[in-house]
Amino acid sequence: MQLVFASNNKNKIKEIQILLPSTIQLLSLEDIGCFEEIPETENTIEGNAMQKANYVTEKYGFNCFADDTGLEVESLNGEPGVFSARYAGEQKDANDNMDKLLANLKDKPNRNAQFKTVICLNLDGEQHLFKGIIKGQIIEKKVGTNGFGYDPIFVAEGYDKTFAELTLEEKSRISHRGLAVKQLVDFLR
Ligand code: IMP
Repeated sequence: MQLVFASNNKNKIKEIQILLPSTIQLLSLEDIGCFEEIPETENTIEGNAMQKANYVTEKYGFNCFADDTGLEVESLNGEPGVFSARYAGEQKDANDNMDKLLANLKDKPNRNAQFKTVICLNLDGEQHLFKGIIKGQIIEKKVGTNGFGYDPIFVAEGYDKTFAELTLEEKSRISHRGLAVKQLVDFLR
């Protein structure tokens, strides 16, 4: 069976392909001739994952899955959420985003936050959602150089290191994305 992952991120595609049974051939957007930017205009993480998967299924007729991720901070009513990539502006700069978040959290005692990944799978006319959540805290300063995005200011529950101090393997084992992908793979197996 052919299954489209609504992404052109070759690393993500490779990582997921090796976890899937060999009967499933994973295709990228490029593989199906989709070169346009897929709209992501919904105001929830779930909504964006569904919008991307539906775009591919409706326009190209393939079974497809899409993912969307955001950081939700409790005392900021779930911000930055769907705006995580461009929280401090369209330049989508991770340092600017972290600086804005740290400034908005100044003087706020509640620093609880969670990363959430939602994967939407459209398979043979049915839709399935898989969710991966990791809870933790936003610390006051950036620590660590691994990873990307908000990793230097996020410490997962039960840990004393930021995501940016963990190795890729350590992070993948507990991360929101790892958890959502595991559910998708278990379902497809
Ligand atoms: P995407 O939906 O995977 O593109 O993620 C949207 C944005 O959320 C990214 O641009 C990052 O700012 C943030 N983000 C997603 N996953 C992570 C992560 O694992 N660590 C830190 N930031 C992340």
